[in-house]
Amino acid sequence: MFEKVLIANRGEIALRIHRACREMGIKTVAIHSTVDADAMHVRLADESVCIGPPAAQHSYLNIPAIISAAEITGADAIHPGYGFLSENARFASIVEEHGIAFIGPKPEHIRAMGDKVVAKATMKKLGVPVTPGSDGPVSDSFTARREAERIGYPVLIKAAAGGGGRGMRVARAVSELDSALAQARAEAGGAFGDDTVYLEKYLDRPRHIEIQILADSHGAVVHLGERDCSLQRRHQKILEESPSPGLNAGDRAKICGRVVEAIRQFGYRGVGTVEMLYQDGQFYFIEMNTRLQVEHPVTEAVTGIDLVREQLRVAAGETLGYRQEDIAFQGHAIECRVNAENPETFAPAPGRIAEFHAPGGLGVRMDSGLYSGYRVPPNYDSLIAKLIVHGRTRNECLMRLKRALEETVIGGVLTTIPLHQAVIADPGFIDGAYDIRWLESFVARRRDGG
Ligand code: ADP
Repeated sequence: MFEKVLIANRGEIALRIHRACREMGIKTVAIHSTVDADAMHVRLADESVCIGPPAAQHSYLNIPAIISAAEITGADAIHPGYGFLSENARFASIVEEHGIAFIGPKPEHIRAMGDKVVAKATMKKLGVPVTPGSDGPVSDSFTARREAERIGYPVLIKAAAGGGGRGMRVARAVSELDSALAQARAEAGGAFGDDTVYLEKYLDRPRHIEIQILADSHGAVVHLGERDCSLQRRHQKILEESPSPGLNAGDRAKICGRVVEAIRQFGYRGVGTVEMLYQDGQFYFIEMNTRLQVEHPVTEAVTGIDLVREQLRVAAGETLGYRQEDIAFQGHAIECRVNAENPETFAPAPGRIAEFHAPGGLGVRMDSGLYSGYRVPPNYDSLIAKLIVHGRTRNECLMRLKRALEETVIGGVLTTIPLHQAVIADPGFIDGAYDIRWLESFVARRRDGG
């Protein structure tokens, strides 16, 4: 096992990784930008290194600075967390070229799944159903028209290098196609430095259901069930749950089996998430994330498996040591993402935390680096805490979540807690029959005073 792990991230996930390392007797190195010098993960780590100014491209994305920090501190592995460099194949290879273990999949697997056109073609070949679409990039208006006709309107134009819902535009008719294509390409070029786009059938009322997989480097692959991440705003997840209230046992078993088989043939190692849309009993692959997900604690709650610990074990070459039949799924879990944002306009609301009190009790977990007096910097993502609640049934989980949200105190900044409270009190959410459009219309109803 590793002796010292450098955590190439910040915020709650850096703390999450630190905790797993500590429990395994592994030393930790925190890296941080100047504005994060007082962050909780920096305080708790065994060592810390300042790697640059606030702007992420000069700090958390600064590969030479991160590699130097690992060399200076003698770290033998790097955990990239999520976001930042976690799905950067070049970073993974540079890390390994320096004789440091990258806690994640092999660079070629990151690369294959990082291009969504290649990812879809790969999964299709491996027997996973994919969303109908152009079987390749689309760069001109003529091809776009031809492909859109073939697929049938409405179509969604998506960025091959996509992430975070950027570079995505719907065209409902041929008259909207050219401008949607131009907008998607401009946005993709700006966000990812790559304006390659492709077309997909736009599904009107799907659920977003993703399968968590875990693989060692000796060919063992298991799934840890699904997460339903249909509650989204601007294609960004807000609340996640497992099991999905919209999936029956037969469809679950079928898709999980398919995905495990595909991942085994792919020769993948580490944790990964296969994201699918689910509508009218059909699954459609959209992308695979080759890293730990924000919402991984939901899976941890229902399986009792520490995903970061498993990541470290398989990266160190250990075998999983258990089979699919050994994994038991228990009860129901929900995660609320708490963002420092205005809960009505969603405008970021960074600032000083005047008061902080995390909820507790049976089945309640809060992952957060907050403390009283901490300053939420304006430079990064607005996620400041994740509340994860587990219950024996979905109903118990909902009652407990309501109680835990009431107990939470985050003073000094606006947060999305009031939005979560309204969502979980709404009959449309309680009955579980929501899809990916539900939250946007719920937010619109609330804004209009409905
Ligand atoms: P990103 O990588 O930007 O997150 P994804 O491909 O994962 O993009 O899609 C993000 C979200 O966008 C999905 O969860 C879903 O809500 C929506 N979406 C993606 N593809 C489609 C589609 N073909 N039809 C309808 N909605 C889609």
